[in-house]
Amino acid sequence: MIKIDKGAWDVMVAHAEAKFPSECCGAMIGKAGYEKHVTAAVPLENAYAGEQGARYELRPEDLLAADRSARAAGLDLIGIFHSHPDCDAYFSKTDLENSCPWYSFVVLSVKQGKFDHAASFLPNADQTAAEKEDLIWPKS
Ligand SMILES: [Zn+2]
Repeated sequence: MIKIDKGAWDVMVAHAEAKFPSECCGAMIGKAGYEKHVTAAVPLENAYAGEQGARYELRPEDLLAADRSARAAGLDLIGIFHSHPDCDAYFSKTDLENSCPWYSFVVLSVKQGKFDHAASFLPNADQTAAEKEDLIWPKS
């Protein structure tokens, strides 16, 4: 299960809506354990060179920097979030290919520029499937 605090959630939704109709991406930071607790979100740049309506790419150095600052604060990099503009929150084949099994992947569906729904996924080690993870976000 992954639970997202209101402060972090507001940052994620604002970033997803601001980048619409492009995909956004970012890092989720907090406490990892049996239940994951996201206390902060860091918007990162979508570094994908082509059309960003259905693709995102994270720079490894941006992720590394987010991981470092999380550790410096005594926290963990829990996962990655990205948006699906005018598309449901599912885990695509590309998402699976670009995933890593030790992170949670939260997908935010943004329809016509407004947040619609979200889901979290846990990819397996060979990146062949992702299981849905219980996601709790502050409903407003
Ligand atoms: Zn995706």
